[in-house]
Amino acid sequence: MANMEKPVPFADGAKIPVFGIPRTIKIIPHTSRTTDITLTDDALEVRTSRADPSSNIRDFLFSLLRRTIEPMWKGHCATLNKSVYQVVLRDTRCRWGSCVPAGKLMFCWRLVFAPMVIVDYVVAHECAHLVQMNHSKKFWDLCDTLSIDMENSRAWLNANGDKLMMYGLAR
Ligand SMILES: [Zn+2]
Repeated sequence: MANMEKPVPFADGAKIPVFGIPRTIKIIPHTSRTTDITLTDDALEVRTSRADPSSNIRDFLFSLLRRTIEPMWKGHCATLNKSVYQVVLRDTRCRWGSCVPAGKLMFCWRLVFAPMVIVDYVVAHECAHLVQMNHSKKFWDLCDTLSIDMENSRAWLNANGDKLMMYGLAR
């Protein structure tokens, strides 16, 4: 991946977008062994006794994305009269999602950094593949009916996708 973007590790003071809204990571030391993470309007508050809670932050964002996309794909399944037996989140570099037509969806966990309309588009795209396992005109027409703003979302991902790959990387 050729990129001009600088890595943004999950560290105190780092700014990361969560569903497109900038949040500052605030690491608040505490003595309990459990790490508690709270998402506020402008921050990700991490109460932890760990020196490096970046894996906890990643786990938090994973489950946030999982919870957020669940009603999206469930809604599309109902519309399309299709069922999905598994949804997995991966750390993929070159694709935002994939679909096995028998009912398995995969999404890149870094979608959690993208605006909600973009997440909506990627979920709609993969769900449309449950019906059309290709990128034919029929596929795009279906995808367009499922997603809120397909054309602008595709353009946004082309322009900003690399940036989403840089969060949480320590180099
Ligand atoms: Zn596709």
